[in-house]
Amino acid sequence: MNKPVTKANILLIEDEENIRTFIATTLKNQEYKFTAASTGREGMHLAASICPDIILLDLGLPDMDGMEVIKKLREWTAIPILVISARTNEHEKAHALDLGADDYITKPFGTVELLARIRTSLRHSSQMQDMSSIHPKPYHHNNLTINFEDHVVTLKGNIIHLTQIEYKLLTLLARNSGKVLTYTSIMEKIWGPYTDNNNQILRVNMANIRRKIENNPAAPEYVFTEIGIGYRMVEGD
Ligand code: CA
Repeated sequence: MNKPVTKANILLIEDEENIRTFIATTLKNQEYKFTAASTGREGMHLAASICPDIILLDLGLPDMDGMEVIKKLREWTAIPILVISARTNEHEKAHALDLGADDYITKPFGTVELLARIRTSLRHSSQMQDMSSIHPKPYHHNNLTINFEDHVVTLKGNIIHLTQIEYKLLTLLARNSGKVLTYTSIMEKIWGPYTDNNNQILRVNMANIRRKIENNPAAPEYVFTEIGIGYRMVEGD
């Protein structure tokens, strides 16, 4: 497993001791810097004082709801927030993401999944820092290449013809590859804030994209559906 190049500083806000210990061990083995808080208030205090590179946040905290913590943090910081939750309620995960969390991971999770999500969140936050990326790196995975500069999508070297909406949708997912995007956030970014909250138009466009890029649209290789939440495009190479 690759070790991080720079030792990112990670803050965990979690009241369950078992999980704190598991995450602490995992992260220390990877030489991440690690601080933990067991309440929302302590976590918010530490976030302000140590300015971590990423925050892992449990939603069920003893003193306050994790949703409140997300709202309060987002008033002053864009530090990536990775929600860790035992809750399987999709609406709740989508709500946390729409409040400004960057991604989520569902308990119980393994080391590999945890580290992959952390790397993705860190990568996206460093990309955000050089938003001046006028020449964004092409997306590439398996047979699919998206050249953002030339607006060209190819599959096995053959140009794929997409409508304007399909192209916007695919590039939005590709620029956020590895990360889940909620239906609401995609609808807002593609169709604007005043669109109704019926996802039909999004599903139709996604079905068209899948027909064009996926070998088997029923078992996609590039864009995955997270049921009840949104879509996640597989991380580019
Ligand atoms: Ca908890």
